[in-house]
Amino acid sequence: MSAVPADKDAPIGIFGGTFDPVHVGHLRTGYELMRALRLAELHWIPVGNPGHRDPPLASAELRLEMLRVAIAGQPGFVLDDREIRRGGVSYTIDTLSELREAYPQRPLCLLLGMDAFAGFTSWHRWQEIFAVAHVVVAHRPGWQAPISGPLAALLAERGVADVATLHERRAGCVHVRKVTPLEISSTDLRELLVSGGDPRFLVPEPVRSIIVESECYALAHERTQTRR
Ligand code: ATP
Repeated sequence: MSAVPADKDAPIGIFGGTFDPVHVGHLRTGYELMRALRLAELHWIPVGNPGHRDPPLASAELRLEMLRVAIAGQPGFVLDDREIRRGGVSYTIDTLSELREAYPQRPLCLLLGMDAFAGFTSWHRWQEIFAVAHVVVAHRPGWQAPISGPLAALLAERGVADVATLHERRAGCVHVRKVTPLEISSTDLRELLVSGGDPRFLVPEPVRSIIVESECYALAHERTQTRR
């Protein structure tokens, strides 16, 4: 396949997540969106403290390390540890505002799976996100695009079908995109791991090595069991 054309004005993508652990569903989705949207680069940003859900089982350092080895060697993929460095509850609006300061003229594209988009209106200061970035929603098995309610209204108001608009404007659009459907989740992976299963071929081999060597999921599971 040909390389993504270098364009100094092309949008910057942002793919945030707990990545507990990162899996091929994340990686393939990021890769396909990067190419389809002709992103200049894609920042992978592991959440530091996800205020809205249980704390991750793997430490921030290990999640960062798994992401580092997972994306190593892929041109345009950038590991961005700003949410872990920032401390406190990680809010996407803060992360995007920092990136907006760093890249005042560039379009910014926040990438989300359909499941994350389904909860978008519960995010901290979610309306402000559109002043800073576009939102690009990837299909995910088991999740449908909303056909009623505030998210459907958002799609009607801000939805754009063409990639050119994401390049022309710096923020404010919603773009929904099909990607190869991969029914893999970190939740299922953690369940597999704590029950002694092997994640081979669901995560890149170097990620699997970290999981196996650190025993991070088995140990975290033991800790939660002894606390009960
Ligand atoms: P968990 O099961 O712990 O919630 P997850 O597999 O959904 O984890 P996250 O780290 O929470 O992964 O997700 C980060 C982002 O990646 C979210 O926007 C999510 O929608 C998206 N995503 C995760 N897995 C997939 C997948 N298989 N296909 C498309 N998007 C995905």
